[in-house]
Amino acid sequence: MSAAGVKPAPTTKGVVPFLVIPKDGGAPYLAGSKCTKCGEVVVGTRDTCGKCGARKGVEHIKLANTGKLYNFTVVHRNFPGVPVPFISAIVDVDGGGTLKGNLLGVEPDPTKIKFDMPVNIVIKPVPQKDKEGNSYLSYFFEPRS
Ligand SMILES: [Zn+2]
Repeated sequence: MSAAGVKPAPTTKGVVPFLVIPKDGGAPYLAGSKCTKCGEVVVGTRDTCGKCGARKGVEHIKLANTGKLYNFTVVHRNFPGVPVPFISAIVDVDGGGTLKGNLLGVEPDPTKIKFDMPVNIVIKPVPQKDKEGNSYLSYFFEPRS
């Protein structure tokens, strides 16, 4: 609750609703949901299962911080101010779930990027702030050696 005209102090937020920053100061993580009936794992918190239709028994979990590169594209054109080229990737998270994000630490050259490459899923600050001065955390993929 804030009085009219009083701006809240800038804070750090996740760029997506499923990037959770614990209020107790714990490590940020990506939230997922796992169906205890069929085992389906999805990104984000759900109360029902989209695969088997279960209305009960969907647990909220922390997604793994590792995965494998499923697919990618090298982006050469984007909005003004967004540095290019960069690699937009789809990663299958170990244990379930699929994420889209940017792959860092690899030359944006298709001949140097391997499908099924093991990656770490890392959470880092983004350099930009919004007009209220809030900072943001995002998730990225980095090759796992
Ligand atoms: Zn299910």
